[in-house]
Amino acid sequence: MRERIVIANWKMNGSREANALWVSNFLAEPVRLSCRTVVCAPFIYLPELTEACRNTAIEIGAEDVNENASGAFTGEVSAAMLADFGIRFAIVGHSERRRLYGETDNRVAMKAVTLVKNGIRPVICVGETLEERERGETPAVILRQLNAVLAVLKPESIGAIAYEPVWAIGTGKSADPATAQTVHAGIRARLVQAAPEAGKLTPILYGGSVTPENAASLFAEADIDGALVGGASLNAQSFYSIGEAL
Ligand code: PEP
Repeated sequence: MRERIVIANWKMNGSREANALWVSNFLAEPVRLSCRTVVCAPFIYLPELTEACRNTAIEIGAEDVNENASGAFTGEVSAAMLADFGIRFAIVGHSERRRLYGETDNRVAMKAVTLVKNGIRPVICVGETLEERERGETPAVILRQLNAVLAVLKPESIGAIAYEPVWAIGTGKSADPATAQTVHAGIRARLVQAAPEAGKLTPILYGGSVTPENAASLFAEADIDGALVGGASLNAQSFYSIGEAL
């Protein structure tokens, strides 16, 4: 059985007060979710959130990491620092970081490697832009992004792959389940090619305008093992409902 996971990506949102309320609202839900539940938050909130969620069903993750071990990288946070605070998940290669901060496939792969070295599960985002989709380049783009990671990591070291079509992020226009499944099946095939047994077990999450309304139809697809959720994760009840649909 493959692990099923929902991951919240709060991005640059939150406050100490709002975060505490989110945690108490989520934990007020009477039934514990059957899937794994991870909240990725801005670095500065990670220690406080880790304390607030100790011995609960919520695990805390980072939204990024620097690929270097230590040194003159002003403003950056290393994987060892995250591990020092008990962080066990981190997102890398989010399209906002690729687009706004020029992160290359190679840099994303190096970030994943430093996480693995420090015992942290990388959640690796891949996804095509609208222009790339319209040019029929989706499979090639996903393969290129995935190959950069598989050149340096085995599938068993990958915490999860998140397929996030750039055109679906924050737009309210989710990929329809069949479209997402086609890409997920391609990712699965490449993982299995790299490692016939372990490749079957890597969770592949979908991200891009997932809501409580569309989650169940996405999760019904064979290779969609969960979701990376942006906007809808800012509301604890909405995020819980997405987890319930899994
Ligand atoms: C994201 O940014 O990872 C994301 C999936 O955002 P949203 O759910 O808001 O589309």
